[in-house]
Amino acid sequence: MIYREYGKTGKKISILGAGGMRYSDPSKLDEMAMVPLEAARLGVNYFDTAPYYCDDKSEDILGLALAQMRRENLPYYVSTKCGEADGDAMRQSIERSLDRLGIEKITFMHCWCVTSLGDFANREKGGAIKALLKAKDEGLVEHVVVSAHLSSDEMKTVIDAGYFEGMTIGFNAANFPYREKAIADAAANSMGVSIMNPLGGGEIMEYPDRFDFIRTREKQSLLEAALHFVMGHKGVTTALVGFRSLDDVRSAAAAAESFCPLSETELATIKLRLGEGFNSLCTTCNYCSGCPRGIPVVKFMEAYNKFIFSKDPKEAISRLKWHWDIENPSLLDACIGCEMCEQKCTQHLPILARFDEIQDMFRKASEEVVAQ
Ligand code: SF4
Ligand code: SF4
Repeated sequence: MIYREYGKTGKKISILGAGGMRYSDPSKLDEMAMVPLEAARLGVNYFDTAPYYCDDKSEDILGLALAQMRRENLPYYVSTKCGEADGDAMRQSIERSLDRLGIEKITFMHCWCVTSLGDFANREKGGAIKALLKAKDEGLVEHVVVSAHLSSDEMKTVIDAGYFEGMTIGFNAANFPYREKAIADAAANSMGVSIMNPLGGGEIMEYPDRFDFIRTREKQSLLEAALHFVMGHKGVTTALVGFRSLDDVRSAAAAAESFCPLSETELATIKLRLGEGFNSLCTTCNYCSGCPRGIPVVKFMEAYNKFIFSKDPKEAISRLKWHWDIENPSLLDACIGCEMCEQKCTQHLPILARFDEIQDMFRKASEEVVAQ
């Protein structure tokens, strides 16, 4: 495993990081704890988690794994997050995370999911950033970092604010032209950079034909191509893979072991092959949850991804029916258009316009059935 300096923190981080948002069965805490533990045994030392991930069980699962890592003398660094703007709420969240993780100090504490500059200003005004810095002074947090879903230009404002020693952003072979300047800016400011969604929220692996263009070498698997692309990008410290299972850990660790940086020519080739529309995918991050009308936005947007790839409305309808158990779009009638989901969307997707399209798809499909 290769290890890299995380900015100026003095920490050396494995180029493969363990993401804690995709455990296959979060109700089985002990079984799931084996997943990050296996990653540690294979050389991973960066473990990312957050409140609310995996039915709010991710921190508990990692806490169990950390206890075993200590028994086995395996080194680890812990990253967790809080998206509150209010200083008191931030403090409570830090204390709760420490308790759940069973540790005395969080290595990387994120000001979580900044989605706009207005949102960032609220974190400043509400006292969240002050609370983060205070927790650092008190030794509860080692490094204050940020995760954001902003354009590169907006990200520069956050970087220039000077609070953060590192950042976590979504970046992969399918969206990199939209985010690469932010990584360069972070590197120029000596910040560590961890990458979420290196596999495009799973889409890259799910649509091998569609994403085959990222393979630039013979015998290279798609997983290797996707991870090597991210790991080889200048300024990137670690690529976080959300492991579902032990198999996921082992395959990603093997891909990290075979890491070989891309040449400038290979990078240019991928850029040339990159079609339009890849930045319009839902990554299933679920940050849009909490709809006041109970609409499961992520399910509709994930199904819409199928339409983006296939151009066939039936693919989206069938995904909703058979994968998400949504027989018709009547749930969407409850939408009051408050736009909360769009404001929270990490990909800035036009969710409401897509709702309209989905309703249209169902309408046309039922008209076709009647006409037959
Ligand atoms: S716009 Fe509609 S779907 Fe989105 S949060 Fe508001 S009510 Fe829910
Ligand atoms: S709609 Fe946006 S916020 Fe919601 S899951 Fe998809 S990418 Fe994430």
